[in-house]
Amino acid sequence: MQALTNRAKPVDRAPMTWVEKLYLWNILKGMLITLRHFFKRKATVKYPEQKRPFSPVFRGLHILNRDEQGRERCTACGLCAVACPAEAITMEAAERKKGEENLYREEKYAARYEINMLRCIFCGLCEEACPKDAIYLSETFAPANFQRQTFIYGKQDLLIPDPVKEPELYAKAVGERGKKN
Ligand code: SF4
Ligand code: SF4
Repeated sequence: MQALTNRAKPVDRAPMTWVEKLYLWNILKGMLITLRHFFKRKATVKYPEQKRPFSPVFRGLHILNRDEQGRERCTACGLCAVACPAEAITMEAAERKKGEENLYREEKYAARYEINMLRCIFCGLCEEACPKDAIYLSETFAPANFQRQTFIYGKQDLLIPDPVKEPELYAKAVGERGKKN
């Protein structure tokens, strides 16, 4: 039979000598391989304690942004939903009432805002389409889960912490991509 490569080795079927039956040389060979790898640079990291730096173009979980006074930027215009090729965004608009000027920057706001992370392809078109800098894709990703329902992120999951009331949480959540926005 013709071999596909010339790397095939003929099998030695000669009976083993008593030295070979001790397997000492084979054990030593195995330990030497382990020892060699011990001093090599590791290809893995101890996730989640250690994390790899993200690429500057990485696009992860969405964040609904607030302005410097902590007001929600989103005006529920729907442009992100129209731009989304995966039809992953759903929202319901509501009118801002008198006295709510400290909560919502515009006269209209998203009373409900949902992104289905199972549909999302993290293309960033929603971020590009938004005229209010209200949405951007951060450097985090959706954690694994067994329930499909948990991948539908509501407004409470997406909204960034208030920079006035919770400055530390805000600074932690904003990330490198948020600083550029
Ligand atoms: S990143 Fe792309 S697919 Fe995901 S919600 Fe935004 S526009 Fe839709
Ligand atoms: S996130 Fe931006 S594009 Fe989407 S509804 Fe809000 S303001 Fe409009």
